[in-house]
Amino acid sequence: MKIKNSIVWMVTFVMLVALIIESKAAEYETMEDTNTYKYPVTAEDAKWNSFESVEEKIEACRIERDILKAMSNEQLVQAVLDFPFLYDVFVTSSFEEGVKVFEKISDAYAELLSRDSAKDAMYDMLLQMKEKSSIKLSAENEVKMDALAILLVFQKEFQNDMTEKELCEIAEISSLLQIAKTDDLQNLRYIEAVPTTPNGHSVVYTTPTCSHASSTYHAEIDANLVSTYGVTLISNGSCKYNCHSYAWHSQSTGNIYWIDNPSIYMTDGSYTRVVNGFSTSSLSAVPGDRVIYGSLYGLSHSAMITSSVTGAPLATRTVKSKWGKAGVFSHSVCNVPSVYDTSDVSAWHR
Ligand SMILES: [Zn+2]
Repeated sequence: MKIKNSIVWMVTFVMLVALIIESKAAEYETMEDTNTYKYPVTAEDAKWNSFESVEEKIEACRIERDILKAMSNEQLVQAVLDFPFLYDVFVTSSFEEGVKVFEKISDAYAELLSRDSAKDAMYDMLLQMKEKSSIKLSAENEVKMDALAILLVFQKEFQNDMTEKELCEIAEISSLLQIAKTDDLQNLRYIEAVPTTPNGHSVVYTTPTCSHASSTYHAEIDANLVSTYGVTLISNGSCKYNCHSYAWHSQSTGNIYWIDNPSIYMTDGSYTRVVNGFSTSSLSAVPGDRVIYGSLYGLSHSAMITSSVTGAPLATRTVKSKWGKAGVFSHSVCNVPSVYDTSDVSAWHR
């Protein structure tokens, strides 16, 4: 049954691609002469490391309004794909959350969203990339196609616009969205809880799978984040467990539990808050204490303190944390993707 389905999908897909290529052939010929937008500075330039904060790096990647308005849809989609923070879409526990923040940091994506044809432009590009990589798929292409797929499927603006056929095509192309389709959405299971808080309360979790066409899929994402953020990789990325599971449940690379909401660890009294606020002295936080980004009801990220006790602000302490589906990194509390809410940060002690 499964094989039969795959064949049906493959045939549908090939037919669809053939149709699109035929109808778009003229357009793509002229596209070849078109210049792509070049960001003035990227993580590959020496200057990148001289920026003092993530905000400065994001500012350096802003595109002037006049230029944005003059760019074609295709150039905008390409600028989204070339955006140094593209891989930020992988670092959240929920894709919806990541896409919402991506809109704020990527001018090219925001400009696309203001145009009627945004969805079609992105979808066409995805099919083009799939077609180009049908012979040999590099990890970079697989990851970038997934990023584009996430920016399509989890964009609220597109939700009423997207046909079921398009969604199925995208799920077929993307290894991540297949996971979402089969494990997260349809078979979302609340199995008898294995992770429990120190005070004995069950924690809700899922057990997603992790399989990609390219064996270096996660290495591609992790290497990009290391150079974009200047962080140190501790262990490789995986789709199986997330930041909350890493910080509160287990730091083992064999962890298989994805925990969307770890607030029970705090609300059941297992942990108590010892530092509240980004710029507050962190004198009372010791190594092993957990750091959370966001309020108890809107937690965006969890980390674990590794640096020794000083009176320095919490923002400057070193932590280790897993960035969504990406790897576990060592970094300072303030050096994180903009999707992690640094306006409300606190440290918790057992
Ligand atoms: Zn994976």
